[in-house]
Order: sequence, then C-alpha cells, then structure tokens
Amino acid sequence: MAQSSIEWTEMTWNPTTGCNKLSAGCKFCYAEVMSRRLQAMGVEKYTDNFKLRIHEKELELPYTWKKPKVVFVNSMSDLFHKEVPVDFIQRVFAVMKDNPQHVFQVLTKRADVLLKYDKQGRLHWPHNVWMGVSVEDGRVRHRIDALRQTGARVKFLSCEPLIGPLPDMDLAGIDWVIVGGESGRKPRRMDPDWVLDIKDQCDRADVAFFFKQWGGTNKKAAGRELEGREYNEMPEIPELV
Ligand code: SF4
Repeated sequence: MAQSSIEWTEMTWNPTTGCNKLSAGCKFCYAEVMSRRLQAMGVEKYTDNFKLRIHEKELELPYTWKKPKVVFVNSMSDLFHKEVPVDFIQRVFAVMKDNPQHVFQVLTKRADVLLKYDKQGRLHWPHNVWMGVSVEDGRVRHRIDALRQTGARVKFLSCEPLIGPLPDMDLAGIDWVIVGGESGRKPRRMDPDWVLDIKDQCDRADVAFFFKQWGGTNKKAAGRELEGREYNEMPEIPELV
C-alpha cells in the first residue's frame, strides 16, 4: 500500500506487479518506468523489473487499514493480464468484498478478459468495487461495450493519456469519466477540443466528469483547469462502514 499522488484516488494497492504493452496508450507506461526505478533501488517486489508477479502477502493488507480509503488497485500492473490466474483475481475480489469500508477502483485495458470472466460467472461484484477500462483513443472504444456488459455496480472510463478524439461515445451505464493528457519527456499532444467534447458528452449523459491534468513536459505548470475551473466530479461514495 502507498499514498498516491493520483488526483482521483487516495492510495494504491498492488497484489500483482508487472505487465506488458497492449495498445497505443501503453507507449510511455508509467508503471514500467517506476518498476525500473524501484528495481534499481532494490525494492523486493520489483526485483523482476516489469515481469508479471503475484504477491500473495498483499492480500492481507486491506484488513490492516484502519480508516476507510479510496484505493486504486494495481497501479503497477493489470489485474486481468493473461498471466494472472482467475482464482487469484477471485481472491482479490473476495478481499475487496470483505472490506466494504474501502472503495476499490480496478482499472484494466484487458476488457475482453474482464468480460469473459464475468460472463463465466467467475466475478461477483460488491458495491464497493468500481470497475474501469482505459480508453485512450477511438481504436479501443470496444472496451466501453465490454465494461457495460459486466455486472460491476460502478463503471468508469479512464481516457488517459487521451491521444485521439472520442466522439459520440455510448455512455449508457457508465458512471464516471476521467480525462488526462500524457506527461513525460515526449508526450503526445491532447487537443483541448477532444476534452471539451468528452465533457459535453458527459453533461448530456449525466455522467460524472473528472479532468485530471493537461500533462505535457511540465505538467505542474500546465495544471488541471479546463475553461478556467477544475472538474473533480466522482460517483457517489456510499456510506462506508
Ligand atoms: S496495460 Fe497499463 S500497466 Fe500494462 S503496459 Fe499498458 S499502461 Fe502499462
């Protein structure tokens, strides 16, 4: 578990680490860069760098957090990676269900695997699990349809890094959309019109809209205001116990 600087969550929890690239949004994968850094620092979880690893002991952690938290699951991996056995995914879900005092935000690019397991009845959805898919451009909008078909109680899209327009999305059944630009040394440009279009689509569909950042080579300076204000909407967090 680690405190997170990601604007839409409070902390991260990584029962698996490592991954491999799947689509254009992965090009400058933050998790890969961080894994390399953590490996160089000798952190045990990252001795295999970015190779997929399962960390059984991590499953105990949510039981030890005293205060209710909003938790991003697998910021350093993808829970639906093909090397993660379905029974381990089910154990992660069981831990999340066992800890209704926390909200768990699971985000994947492997929407096909997510849907397959859901259709097979292998995933059970407690109210405190928010399921999201990454949608970086129009080539992967099929992920939205896959997510929509799952039984997740709260469904969200992470359009980050937004590297292309996403006109006319079907937002039926979607609760939350996050938009952000790419940062780093050679970020791909995010056109403000793409962002405004997504915000308008969210307004029309009554979907919560969160604008995370413009990104760029100096993301702090670029900030996170859109038309002069911040957008920090989120789905309603249920009364936590
Ligand atoms: S799916 Fe996520 S963690 Fe995996 S390579 Fe792509 S961006 Fe990185």
